[in-house]
Amino acid sequence: MIKSMPQVRIGMIQSAETIRFQCTSGFALLDLQDRRIAEGTAGAVQEAVIARAESASLHFRVRLAIALTGEEAHLLQEKLAARNIATFLWRPGVVLELADFVMDNREYWIVTEPFADEAAAKSFAAGYEPVGEAVVVKEIVRKATGTLRVMDQTITDGCRVVPEDPEAHIQLLDVTVGIEFHWQHKRTQLLPGILEICFNNAGRLQAINELDVETYLISVNSSEMTKENPIELLKAQTIAARSTILATMGKHHYDERFHLCSDDHCQCYHGVANISEHSRFAAQETEGVNLIHGGRVCDARYAKICGGIMEDYGHIWDNREVPYLVSGVDGREKLEYPLANETQVKAYIDSSPDVWCNTQRYEIPSSLPYNTRELFRWRVSYPRLELGELISRRLNITFGELVDLIPGDRAPGGRLIHLDVVGSERTVRIGKELVIRRALSESHLYSACFYIERDRDSGGRVTHFHFVGAGWGHGVGLCQVGATVMAQQGFDCQAILSHYYRDSRLVKLY
Ligand SMILES: [Zn+2]
Ligand SMILES: [Zn+2]
Repeated sequence: MIKSMPQVRIGMIQSAETIRFQCTSGFALLDLQDRRIAEGTAGAVQEAVIARAESASLHFRVRLAIALTGEEAHLLQEKLAARNIATFLWRPGVVLELADFVMDNREYWIVTEPFADEAAAKSFAAGYEPVGEAVVVKEIVRKATGTLRVMDQTITDGCRVVPEDPEAHIQLLDVTVGIEFHWQHKRTQLLPGILEICFNNAGRLQAINELDVETYLISVNSSEMTKENPIELLKAQTIAARSTILATMGKHHYDERFHLCSDDHCQCYHGVANISEHSRFAAQETEGVNLIHGGRVCDARYAKICGGIMEDYGHIWDNREVPYLVSGVDGREKLEYPLANETQVKAYIDSSPDVWCNTQRYEIPSSLPYNTRELFRWRVSYPRLELGELISRRLNITFGELVDLIPGDRAPGGRLIHLDVVGSERTVRIGKELVIRRALSESHLYSACFYIERDRDSGGRVTHFHFVGAGWGHGVGLCQVGATVMAQQGFDCQAILSHYYRDSRLVKLY
């Protein structure tokens, strides 16, 4: 293994009373200070249980903005001070020393003072303008502590399982996968590298797999890498995925001892039992290559199908410009789509533009795990009262009986930034994109790029709402269907990546 290859820490089990594992070779049991506590033998199932535990003490603050430089952060702080909001700076993220490059993915988070409790923080975030910008964040004032029993030893704070043979694997038993999905179940996972067992903030046990980033990447990509996909697409997706891992390490789980979780929230990682040869090949061909912009590794977001126009980062997530994640037509031609008003948005959605992800024009490989033909353009309908009940339940808000829905501002790619829910008692403004999609579906509406049609009764009251839309997902960055078509048309991975991540370049970091 190359010495400077980054190591990632993945949260495999986030909360448990006991954790069971076995190793295919002998192993050393260390404490969290890397002191040797005991030796284990191959094949024997071991069990770690809590002897004593005390949960962490937390404060709740609200994050109001994110900045990349100290200068931007101070400007934002001044603006908030003018609104009488006192703020502080946090710097989540990691610094990694690679072969010729110091990767520093840290951001500046502008956060409020602590609130009395989580409910008070949530209430402040809900009332903050602009809608959808504020996020409740946790501050660990005192870490969780405890002791655990494993292999007849009592160990403080946690332990690490380090196989003697670096090629050996650790089997982690009883891992719940698909948390909160209908296919949730438990299975045993095969892990390379090191296993760490320690306490989470609630004082329960968690299991963390520490492994090199390339092995992790091959595994998380395997489910999407099949022989039907062109190799240049696999390479482009691999480089984008690697960049996103490095760019986001330590931020989604800033309050945990791991960088990324193993479930859908970050990237699905089920160990190394089902590695695809195509994934391995694409990773080896591009080893260490990342997308770089402005001296930083790009957070190379991607979506399933953009529907014709990619979206700006700042209209979907926190309100800032990310120069390589900007709106643009997903096609050969620089077609003009002014989407300044509802009439133009309707005309765009009703059209069939010459874009890479237009599945009415291009043949899409059957390997894609979803029916793209129905998702380039789609239509979803609800009776009015049923929809009102759905929005109220999904967002936990009340507004009386649903009367109407009024589209608010739109992003350059046509996606709604906010939507006014007009109720018999009050009007509630909801946003941004993900909240709108969550409100309008039992899971998530395909996208926030839609226009609304209404059926009315003889009294003029709405009886049904119809959402007519384009694309699936947030539409920022690489469009998976569009990139697949580009690769089929003969574009190489560099051309594909520079189409979706403007002004970025490819650099081998290790
Ligand atoms: Zn996660
Ligand atoms: Zn597209």
